[in-house]
Amino acid sequence: MAYKSDIEIAREARKKPIQQIGDRLGIPAEHLLPYGHDKAKVGQAFIDSVQDRPNGKLILVTAINPTPAGEGKTTTTVGLGDGLNRIGKKAVICIREASLGPNFGMKGGAAGGGMAQVVPMEDMNLHFTGDFHAITSAHSLLAAMIDNHIYWGNELDIDIRRVAWRRVVDMNDRALRQITCSLGGVANGFPRETGFDITVASEVMAILCLAKNLKDLETRLGDMIVAYRRDKTPVYCRDIGAEGAMTVLLKDAMQPNLVQTLENNPAFVHGGPFANIAHGCNSVIATTTALKIADYVVTEAGFGADLGAEKFMDIKCRKAGLRPDAVVIVATVRAMKMNGGVAKANLGTENVDAVKAGCANLGRHVENMQKFGVPAVVGINHFVTDTEAEVQAIRDYCAGLGVEAILNKHWAEGGAGIEATARKVVELCEGGTADYRPLYPDEMSLADKIEAICKGIYRADGVQIDGKIRAQLKEWEEQGYGNLPVCMAKTQYSFTTDPNRRGAPTGFEIPVREVRLSAGAGFVVAICGEIMTMPGLPKVPAANSIRLNDAGQIEGLF
Ligand code: ADP
Ligand code: MG
Repeated sequence: MAYKSDIEIAREARKKPIQQIGDRLGIPAEHLLPYGHDKAKVGQAFIDSVQDRPNGKLILVTAINPTPAGEGKTTTTVGLGDGLNRIGKKAVICIREASLGPNFGMKGGAAGGGMAQVVPMEDMNLHFTGDFHAITSAHSLLAAMIDNHIYWGNELDIDIRRVAWRRVVDMNDRALRQITCSLGGVANGFPRETGFDITVASEVMAILCLAKNLKDLETRLGDMIVAYRRDKTPVYCRDIGAEGAMTVLLKDAMQPNLVQTLENNPAFVHGGPFANIAHGCNSVIATTTALKIADYVVTEAGFGADLGAEKFMDIKCRKAGLRPDAVVIVATVRAMKMNGGVAKANLGTENVDAVKAGCANLGRHVENMQKFGVPAVVGINHFVTDTEAEVQAIRDYCAGLGVEAILNKHWAEGGAGIEATARKVVELCEGGTADYRPLYPDEMSLADKIEAICKGIYRADGVQIDGKIRAQLKEWEEQGYGNLPVCMAKTQYSFTTDPNRRGAPTGFEIPVREVRLSAGAGFVVAICGEIMTMPGLPKVPAANSIRLNDAGQIEGLF
């Protein structure tokens, strides 16, 4: 049987006018700002007006260590939202927006897949409501103002070799990773080295996703460190005086975007920070708003649970005062096989032993979620190549751990294929067993926080932090940054820093190569291994096959 592509399915969607979706959530027309017929932003006045309401239940969708193709976290998040609505619950989905760069490279879309998608998926994967362009503009304004300050006499005494603020563009463009700017003579300033990152790696993006409101956004933007003086003291964005104008540029981007699923259920799609040098979750403002207007909110964190869920719990929930009620850990037979040692080319062949071996990876993630005090269910995202014996092996393994594993067919069937998990999630939420706690307290030293994650979540024997990095962490503690959480930047494919060590490895240490302070976003990034902040395109990029057909429809986008 031939399956339709995601974009073909999305094109056939019977969308309702966006106001009808807003009506279901009680958002009056004057507070729903339409961007066309099928997208809208939710106005700040409405958000302010619901603050006194009680919160609904919060459900996190996370996953085992993935295969390079992704395991279907977004697809499961969307499907579960539909499933909850199908069993009569008022549920809202909260996911991230898509970055343009990877769409033209080789990543899949960010709108889910199969029968579990949000629409309009073409818009969502392209310009959408312009949020990322606004972030690029705000980021660029600050960059221009820094070089302008230097040009007009450099009153702040910025060391032009230590300008930390780089530039951004929402494209995969490796040629821009390292550049020399201000060439061409006296009129163009002082030549210096810099480079570009992709927009989603901007600290402005992380701040937009963590800020509670526009005031908080402006304060955090002002707190960003943009450069250092010759005496190594930091220069802040507020010293440049850019945070007010940046906030003006971000005013609309701060408002959550409302769209719908293929089954006409509400979804907030807002924000999209990198999951390595940032925390990888949709915006706090979207999640907190959704919790006020729905009984169940389903959201997703990037990468596997060791990175994504840990940052969701230790950064997003801690900072936003969120208390998750249940976790769905997505597992797939093919990822279990890969974690069990099977090569990518052989994933199509039944291999129950490899599935069993790979389950050790799942088991560790299940245990880890218990450390945060939140009950979990395993959601097996069904692929047509899975065999019954392979699925049963996962069920049996989970039963041994005391956690239920449920087979979900939302990709093929939509919300109807995931009702059992929806019911289980309701049971977990209403059972009242959730007792969320972050992994480490605010007061712990930065080095100890890194160690707590490496030992507690990754199961490393220890961490390697050399003297220079330890001194840097101490210095930040003395400057008052010691209570910040840490944001781990590590490969998503393994608990270790080696992407090839799948499964549940033991007997390793985590080397911390570099630490960075994101003073505005409010975390310290610990970089363990090679982390790319400006991706490149593959030899044959997806862009080569993306085009408009004679009917004016987009072809080749997934
Ligand atoms: P993640 O959020 O974990 O990165 P996605 O939900 O975005 O993963 O899915 C990645 C890709 O895999 C999408 O193109 C989606 O259509 C596809 N996919 C997800 N689940 C299935 C499935 N059960 N069968 C086939 N393809 C799937
Ligand atoms: Mg995803």
